[in-house]
Amino acid sequence: MHDLVIRGALIEDGSGGPAFEGDIAVEGGFIAALGTVGRSRAEIGADGLVAAPGFIDAHAHDDMELHRNPDNGAKLRQGVTTVVCGNCGFSAFPHAPGQRSPDLLAVDGGWQTYGEYLQTLTSHGIATNAASFVGHNTVQRLLSGIDGAEPGVRALADICDEIRRAMDDGALGVSTGLIYCPGRGVSTAALTRIVAAVADYGGIHSTHIRDEADGLLDAIAEVTSVSQETGVGLQISHLKVIGEHNWGSLGGALDQIGEARDRGVDVAFDVYPYNAGSGPLATYFPPDDIDETRARLVQIIRCHDYPHFEGRRLTDIAREEGATVRDLTRKLVTAPQAGETLCIIFEICEDDMLNALSHPLAMIGSDGIPQQAGVPHPRLQGTFPRVLGHYCRDMSVLPRSTAIQKMTSVVAARYRLAGRGMLRPGYAADVVVFDPTTIADRGTYASRAYPAGIRHVLVNGQHAVSEAVPSGVRAGQVLTVDRG
Ligand SMILES: [Zn+2]
Repeated sequence: MHDLVIRGALIEDGSGGPAFEGDIAVEGGFIAALGTVGRSRAEIGADGLVAAPGFIDAHAHDDMELHRNPDNGAKLRQGVTTVVCGNCGFSAFPHAPGQRSPDLLAVDGGWQTYGEYLQTLTSHGIATNAASFVGHNTVQRLLSGIDGAEPGVRALADICDEIRRAMDDGALGVSTGLIYCPGRGVSTAALTRIVAAVADYGGIHSTHIRDEADGLLDAIAEVTSVSQETGVGLQISHLKVIGEHNWGSLGGALDQIGEARDRGVDVAFDVYPYNAGSGPLATYFPPDDIDETRARLVQIIRCHDYPHFEGRRLTDIAREEGATVRDLTRKLVTAPQAGETLCIIFEICEDDMLNALSHPLAMIGSDGIPQQAGVPHPRLQGTFPRVLGHYCRDMSVLPRSTAIQKMTSVVAARYRLAGRGMLRPGYAADVVVFDPTTIADRGTYASRAYPAGIRHVLVNGQHAVSEAVPSGVRAGQVLTVDRG
């Protein structure tokens, strides 16, 4: 007698192969059998529904959400069962208790190390599984502050020691954010040392590269050369080209990545399925060098200094205030809590994004930044259903099996999350059951909403979403890389 059976589903097993009809039996948190299976204590009827491995968000910023809102509805309700955190150079650890980190994560907790952070998550439970990189910006800021430019020899050694400590605790690798402070002040030589710190562990370097606009190709060349020199696998985060005058040119970057791969560089990348980016306003617009053309594409989504600006375009606010867009932007990025002001910028061409999304080396990552108030970028709550509904079903951009593979087995293999990302006997029972005719993202840039069509989600065999409603069970596990 099985614990649970999903009966009569169209099974997409995550391998990218053709879907097939069958049942899925679950026992003790694992998949026991696929095909035609016997009786069970509980059943999910899945006639007309698709069952797939739970989605793995290849690029998440849920580091603090896992602690502040461990039910993580924004992800769970998309069918995401594992989040990969610690990206763009920022992680929840190492951390100095009592200090709030002045970055997009706003880390605030009682832990110091990765191990202690994971213990905290385990003590209160989490609804999804979680794994993390250690963020270079976080490490260097803690040891040397954010204003120091290039770290000296001594500082660099300390930074590498701290990164290795996190690797000993099972981190996936190191992430860098080379547009942020202090990463932007780090030379290629220092970057090479930092990345080399994870080489002996077989870790990955996940990077928000130095330039996603006019200097995109140089920025990719820098990180691929670092990989070539260190032998460390490279994950280019949220690959895109920004700026209207660069639209249509992403193919050049994809060619360059393909050539690096041909030279033996272990490189891959992740993509989110939207035409707008999002992040901290102050990073994009330094007060003494404000690009007014770019500022015209900005919508404010979180602003503690001027909450009534949330949800509005800078051009509209400027008109109302009788100010120039440049002066308004300067006012926002010099306000007391400017570091936590988030914005959306409509600066990506859809054709470029789809070109990246359908590339063989692409995986899907939301890059969503959790926020409780206001309207976050819709990628936070809609990424996975948007790919399956809008791009696979409605626009036929890529086959459903391929898209699911990019959300599951490809990501698990990349990050060495053993026993995840496929529906196979012996694998963890992370499963999503969705309605292929109705699955859709429903949030917009003006209003937040959970997606449609996600009917059931199992996390480690526990029924975490039932008939589209979260059950409140926190069956997630912390996934550390076992290097034993
Ligand atoms: Zn980033």
